[in-house]
Amino acid sequence: MTNITEHLHSAIKSLRFYENKSHRQANTVQLIAVSKTKPISDIEIAIEAGQQHFGENYVQEGIEKVQYFNNPELTWHFIGPIQSNKSKLVAENFDWVHTIDRLKIAKRLSDQRGVYQQPLQVLIQINISGEASKSGIEIDDALILAREINALERLTLRGLMTIGVKTDDNELIKHQFSKMNQLFEQLKKEFDTVDTLSMGMSSDVAHAVEHGSTMVRVGSAIFGTRNT
Ligand SMILES: *Cc1c(COP(=O)(O)O)cnc(C)c1O
Repeated sequence: MTNITEHLHSAIKSLRFYENKSHRQANTVQLIAVSKTKPISDIEIAIEAGQQHFGENYVQEGIEKVQYFNNPELTWHFIGPIQSNKSKLVAENFDWVHTIDRLKIAKRLSDQRGVYQQPLQVLIQINISGEASKSGIEIDDALILAREINALERLTLRGLMTIGVKTDDNELIKHQFSKMNQLFEQLKKEFDTVDTLSMGMSSDVAHAVEHGSTMVRVGSAIFGTRNT
């Protein structure tokens, strides 16, 4: 077994462990393998080991991988910032977008999604820490954007995404993740299509699962540390 295979198996195992520990149903949290900056050969190993959901941050690199595999059994998640001039490539190549933070981009993605494709599955990114350097919108602005996105033809609003703060302060992480979970519950009541909370990375999966995450985005714990 290669390292990647081993790491993938242990990531899945700990996910099942945290689900159980948090009294969540088994297999309710989906693992996205974040393969940004990693070569095709690493992704091939993960696919061989049964992984089908992958996350990419950079448009050009991401679509090269999507098109290389050209495999309908794989699901590709765009999890990086989107510039307007790249939105068409994202709309045409990815299955999910986790990082919507303004209506303008949402409209472009809807207009640019192919008419013969399934609607693009989208999440609103929330800046939970309120740090100015972070992308995403404030919690208080989420509901209005959600209503606007919900009205767009070629998008399906699936829920929310956040990036946790990098800190050793567990109480702060828990506080922010629980605020995300509250907003998620509120959104679920208003929108039938909302079922996804994308929260948790290599370092904070346990807290995320405890606070209602349904999708974790794990990179370095599977593929190893990144050079870039
Ligand atoms: C890189 C990245 C991840 C994965 O981070 P790791 O710490 O390597 O698990 C998850 N989500 C986003 C948005 C990322 O940019």
